[in-house]
Amino acid sequence: MRVRFWGVRGSIAAPGSETVKYGGNTACVQVTAPTGEVLLLDAGTGIRGAGQKIVSDKGPLSIALLITHTHWDHIQGFPYFIPIYSPRFAIDLFGPRLPHRNIEEIFAIFLSHEFHPVRKMELAARIRYRDLGEEAFRHGPFAVTTCYAHHPVVALSYRIECQGKTVVYTGDHEPYFVVDGKATEPGLPERMEVANARYTDFARGADLLVCDAMYTAEEYAKKKLWGHGSIDDAVGLAASAGAKRLALFHHEPNYADAFLDDIDAHHLPRLKERFSAPNLEAFFAREGLEVTL
Ligand SMILES: [Zn+2]
Ligand SMILES: [Zn+2]
Repeated sequence: MRVRFWGVRGSIAAPGSETVKYGGNTACVQVTAPTGEVLLLDAGTGIRGAGQKIVSDKGPLSIALLITHTHWDHIQGFPYFIPIYSPRFAIDLFGPRLPHRNIEEIFAIFLSHEFHPVRKMELAARIRYRDLGEEAFRHGPFAVTTCYAHHPVVALSYRIECQGKTVVYTGDHEPYFVVDGKATEPGLPERMEVANARYTDFARGADLLVCDAMYTAEEYAKKKLWGHGSIDDAVGLAASAGAKRLALFHHEPNYADAFLDDIDAHHLPRLKERFSAPNLEAFFAREGLEVTL
């Protein structure tokens, strides 16, 4: 199984001379089975490049697209994913079931003339929309399991298994914690612990964990409940879950290449020591990087 990063930035695209190395596009990760089938995780601006490559390589005509949630940075590239304009393509689009709207209705809203010149009804590809809760299913060679993430909107994390290898993609996720002032609420700290343990089990034994690591620990302290984790949290999760490799993902748009390089060189080794994970291979995901599992 090969995992390729097309977009690694969180919140908003951040192109420019300071983000050339890690990349400025928002979330999109491609998983390719040894047999060639393609599954894409999220449709941030990075999906534009994925679509161009699939078309130019005459890649598979059937594609699975798994959306974690419908915040802009996870769907905004979809109208620029060129396979949707070709009747030769069949796309299975999966996303979380919201209480009052299904994933197809949300796509119909943002693919309307108010937001984009081509409407959902005018797309040429055969697109099948499917709403997901927490479940497990097979899609071609991939075994997919979902788990709710901790985020301000309903969001899913995905576990993809194929031919004995596993990639876990958190999408946007903040570790569960007790909000200030509620520490005395009976049972709440225990419930948070259980929720974190359950999430760790979901990521258990991943060959590659692609994890929301948007902030430094200092910055995270100012942005609690924004729905993202810190670099420190991500290393902690990978260590507790026994993941082999950790791709730190969803970089804060203001973090320049030099800043991430500095954390990579000086802080990551200390974190691996702190979480007793000397063999964990932790790195910042960057656009264009392909990892073979
Ligand atoms: Zn995001
Ligand atoms: Zn989000």
